[in-house]
Amino acid sequence: MGNSKSDMVPPEKNQQESEKVQGGAYQRESYESYDEEIDPDFDFPKVVLHCHLDGSFRISTVIDIAKRRGIELVSYDEKELRKYAVWHVQENATLAKFLDHFKYFGPVFKGSRYAIRRLTLEAIEDFHRRGIVYIELRFSPHLLATIGNDPLNEDDPEEKITPEDVLEEVLKANKIAAEKYPSIMVRYLLCGIVAFPQWSQETAELCVKYRNDGVVGMDLAGDPQDPDYHTEMKLHEKAFDYAHDNNVNITIHAGEAEGPSSCEQAIDDFHAARIGHGYHIIEDERIYKRFQNEQHHLECCPISSYRTGSVKKTQNHPLIRFFKDGLNCSISTDDPGIMLTTIFDDYADVKNTMGLSIKNIQQMNLNAARSCFLPDSEKSELISRLELSYAKFNQD
Ligand SMILES: [Zn+2]
Repeated sequence: MGNSKSDMVPPEKNQQESEKVQGGAYQRESYESYDEEIDPDFDFPKVVLHCHLDGSFRISTVIDIAKRRGIELVSYDEKELRKYAVWHVQENATLAKFLDHFKYFGPVFKGSRYAIRRLTLEAIEDFHRRGIVYIELRFSPHLLATIGNDPLNEDDPEEKITPEDVLEEVLKANKIAAEKYPSIMVRYLLCGIVAFPQWSQETAELCVKYRNDGVVGMDLAGDPQDPDYHTEMKLHEKAFDYAHDNNVNITIHAGEAEGPSSCEQAIDDFHAARIGHGYHIIEDERIYKRFQNEQHHLECCPISSYRTGSVKKTQNHPLIRFFKDGLNCSISTDDPGIMLTTIFDDYADVKNTMGLSIKNIQQMNLNAARSCFLPDSEKSELISRLELSYAKFNQD
């Protein structure tokens, strides 16, 4: 998720047509079919490195909180509100069009301690149920705050909360979740938002201050179609230098709606150890080879890649080449709440459409574990846990 400046648009009506245009992309049949069945093919421990907390909500919770807080929604009926999610590949899909859909859901979580805690707790509960054992959840504390930001509801009678308050509520919920669901470990990445360079330094400082309380890294997200994007990107460099100098791990959204050079910029100018997405490196052989040699991790999100229009043809998805050429890549969900998906959808796409095997998927989970931002001792434990489980899974 990121910041979008586009106007309100209704969800597209002619889904049949858009499916034909995009063709081949795995997706559920409709916004109504959203089951939580565990797919036995994929019933093994999973690691997810790229997932937005504020894109991981339950639609039913959006409605409930909107009612409690008196926030206007396009519909208070769950089935109806689902239509506004990005549950299929839209015609001429773009990242901006995708991000635009957050306006139907996001405002209910902003500026409420209760809503932020509930969002976090339920997201962890959902990820735990799906067999995820380690996940790095990312969010911008500023986008969920009401101070140091443009309040959405100026006459909101609720207390105004700061970006640090937001982070503290998330970490409080994380503590409760850790007791309730000890088999899943959740860590956090704080996102800078390209359109708001003025937030970046504070975000970097929060990463340093809360490094022993669950924050393991920093991210930068935005919409490259924004005309000011490139100028604004530059304004974030200092904050990322500060983060890097203070040993904060860094991942950057790049090579998604932007070309291959954005991935090199992330590594060279922003100290990124990992790239969020990175699909477009296949367009530049030199940069591709660099990723192959230097093994910077690529956090690939298959379903999201079609719905943001970053990848058009499913059958020759860059992830297939990344994996076969030994690039360091893994599979994540990005924004499961707003896409009405689970990690099972992404895995099903990788297996059924891209033709990779379950063992390949497990290997990518090991890549994710090796490239996660946990300290070394915890990382080794995670890798051993996966190796043991996969050996047993493949024997049975
Ligand atoms: Zn993302």
